[in-house]
Amino acid sequence: QKPVQADGKVTPMMAQFLEIKAANPDSLLFYRMGDFYELFFEDAEIASAALSITLTKRGKHQGDDIPMCGVPVHAADDYLQKLIAKGFRVSVCEQTEDPAEAKKRGSKSVVRRDVVRLVTPGTLTEERLLDAGSNNFLMALTRLKGGSLDGTAVYGLAWIDMSTGSFQVSETDQQRLAADLAQVSPRELILADNLLQESELRLLAEQAGGALSPVPRAFFDSSTAVDRLAHYFGVKTLDGFGTFSRAELSAAAGILSYIEKTQLGERPPLDPPMREAGAGRMLIDPATRANLELSRTLSGEKQGSLLATIDRTVTGSGSRLLASRLAGPLVNVSAIQQRHDAVEHFLENEIMREGLRQTLKGAPDMARALSRIALNRGGPRDILSVAQGLASARAVLDQTGHSTDDIPAEVAAARASLEQAPHELGAELVRAIKEDPPLLKRDGSFIATGYNADLDELRSLRDESRKVIAKLQADYSEELGLRSLKIKHNNVLGWFIEAPTAQTEQLTADPGRFIHRQTMAGAMRFTTTELADLESKIASAGERSLAIELDIFERLTAAIINAGDTIKAAAHGLGILDVTAALAKLAQEENYVRPSVDESRAFDIKGGRHPVVELALKKSAGDSFVANDSNLGPDQDEDIGHIWLITGPNMAGKSTYLRQNALIAVLAQMGAFVPATAAHIGVVDRLFSRVGAADDLARGRSTFMVEMVETAAILNQAGDRSLVILDEIGRGTATFDGLSIAWATIEHLHEVNKSRALFATHYHELTALSAKLERLSNSTVSVKEWKGDVIFLHEIVPGAADRSYGIQVAKLAGLPGKVVERSRQVLSQLEEQDRRSPAESLIDELPLFASITTPAPTVAGGFAEEDPLDDALQEIDPDDMTPREALEALYRLKALR
Ligand code: ADP
Repeated sequence: QKPVQADGKVTPMMAQFLEIKAANPDSLLFYRMGDFYELFFEDAEIASAALSITLTKRGKHQGDDIPMCGVPVHAADDYLQKLIAKGFRVSVCEQTEDPAEAKKRGSKSVVRRDVVRLVTPGTLTEERLLDAGSNNFLMALTRLKGGSLDGTAVYGLAWIDMSTGSFQVSETDQQRLAADLAQVSPRELILADNLLQESELRLLAEQAGGALSPVPRAFFDSSTAVDRLAHYFGVKTLDGFGTFSRAELSAAAGILSYIEKTQLGERPPLDPPMREAGAGRMLIDPATRANLELSRTLSGEKQGSLLATIDRTVTGSGSRLLASRLAGPLVNVSAIQQRHDAVEHFLENEIMREGLRQTLKGAPDMARALSRIALNRGGPRDILSVAQGLASARAVLDQTGHSTDDIPAEVAAARASLEQAPHELGAELVRAIKEDPPLLKRDGSFIATGYNADLDELRSLRDESRKVIAKLQADYSEELGLRSLKIKHNNVLGWFIEAPTAQTEQLTADPGRFIHRQTMAGAMRFTTTELADLESKIASAGERSLAIELDIFERLTAAIINAGDTIKAAAHGLGILDVTAALAKLAQEENYVRPSVDESRAFDIKGGRHPVVELALKKSAGDSFVANDSNLGPDQDEDIGHIWLITGPNMAGKSTYLRQNALIAVLAQMGAFVPATAAHIGVVDRLFSRVGAADDLARGRSTFMVEMVETAAILNQAGDRSLVILDEIGRGTATFDGLSIAWATIEHLHEVNKSRALFATHYHELTALSAKLERLSNSTVSVKEWKGDVIFLHEIVPGAADRSYGIQVAKLAGLPGKVVERSRQVLSQLEEQDRRSPAESLIDELPLFASITTPAPTVAGGFAEEDPLDDALQEIDPDDMTPREALEALYRLKALR
């Protein structure tokens, strides 16, 4: 059928397409035509480019060619996956009636079609489209202007993993928003279209990494939110779910509206919304998260991240839970200790742990199978997954002791959820479903023998009939003396007798008995009344048994959905046990210890190691990792943490040391053991880092700008419970600028933020600061010099580096010998010019930061007083100064305050 008729009018089919497309404007429309999904117009152009498939054309529309491309239905999942991965949304439009029906209405009428599904990155449930080890979060963001007591805006967040049904909400503010988005790292973020038009918010949303889906503002209407939520969950009041803020309700209602829209009215089974108290997690801003390579390396890969390094889980749900625990370390001391208790339990009970891991290894992803079943997208394999999942739950229960044993609360809670799982249903499912069932229920043959008597009888009838056919073939061939006579089956003719044309004389001679059906090249096909009878018997047995199987399928899935809550809880329990056992395994294999976490300001690590670098060194079988201590805790009689200033040449191991300490804090508070011989950590509420330097060209920021933005965030937000690591602040600019900024940053951290901090620098001048700042101490990474070369010992020791060894490192890097030699000459010349280090004079002359941060009011009686600062300012002409003069002027000015 051509889209446009000869007279230029739109064909009925194209009219139908345009109508459906108009109703689904913001997605690519997969329009079903026979064995293909076709895309037209702009959709075709986008999809052909995104999928690298041929763009063709089909007919004309308003005088122009209609671009078209298509994907075969049987391979549609692969193409869908690619499009979704690129952040597109796809509407799948199917034929909703038999083409024969359409014909009955008239030759020109088109087959009815309708969009049956809207596939978006955040609403996937198919096994093949999902990554087993990662959560697939859909998130909604909403803002209530003036929502807080002091009149500033508050933000509501809601996030759902439709493939498992988890549903969380939280409220946050402008400052924490980026960190909260980064913690969840949604695949798809929905927000009202007016918010998306604000460039700052848009930037934040884009930074979250998922696809952005603008929705109408009405989705988030907070005045109807409660009703909409109650309606979704079929309850009269939300009281049973807990209390929620207005912003949380608005976000929750918004996300549900979006789900109802994309699922075309189907309601996936979701847990009731759970409040994720923002204060319950260690706040890690996006830059820190990225720099520390928690779940991805800076180049975007999983391999080499902390997550990949510590992941010893054996199930998809365990791996997802581990990722989310790592993304949001806790700050509640007793909750952290409970997790440590559980890990310790499995560290001590190795046999129990290994048995448990063995069982879990074979366990399917029960939570995701359940969600597909509840969404009416499940097949026999999903039932099998639930059956096997419940069987694993049963086995795990037996393997993890008795409920009367003295076991840690976390393990006990997981076991309790396994105990409450519907084990009888599980046993029935195991009996009902065959071991290797087909993917689709319509293919039948998935119910096991022995489960249903009627089904067994029909099946034996069918098998019997097959035997009768075999016998019939033997009889005919003997009677006619034709050994080459065969009885075969195909979908067009059904059963038939086939014989080579040259030998069919006897058959054609008896047309009353052998009814001719078809002549082939070299063979002829016949049927007989006997055969036709048998055939209809087989067909009806097949139909009847399929009907019975489908009936059983409905009954079993209904029972599963009915027990959905307990099944989901059991799946979650298995996930917790998997994570806990995996962390114990990790601790054993890699020699991690249980950290002691409390409410103090301690940060005392003995023999700390960098988990990722250590493992990499181990694999390369080269040098072993050198463990290092750190102690940032307060001295007796004070409760403010310390700052360590670390100097040392490049390549000595400063960055590694800084990061390892941050990672140890993250691991400790996510509930894991840590790579150290001992660790005592006073809970860290926010973790800040400023390490590495990469241009953020996409946002038009130079390295230096990125560095300063991140430093600003730290100085503005870090508090006395925070842990800060700063690497090479000020490197991106001229020496004196850089030194000055680093200087002032340390002073601010010491006097104002009062955070525990590690500060690595190559400005040796900064070490002079320790004379003035009582909680600042100097450390250096030791190196040995040997015949003009430098040997890195990677050992952190008290003191300051005496020199940079830059030339030696350059030599190691392969700088040409002549250049190295020349650099040595230049250096010794420079060193001969004896100059007093500017930093020392600063220490003597510059007042401390704290004393200059709060300027005294200069206005009295409504008039400005005479101000020497003002005069000095007048005298300065910035255009006429070198950077050095400018710096000195700045110092003079500050001294005038
Ligand atoms: P810096 O920041 O001082 O330039 P890095 O932290 O980048 O140095 O370390 C340079 C290299 O030294 C790393 O790639 C690592 O292989 C090695 N290294 C660092 N710390 C250690 C250590 N404690 N033990 C062994 N090797 C280390």
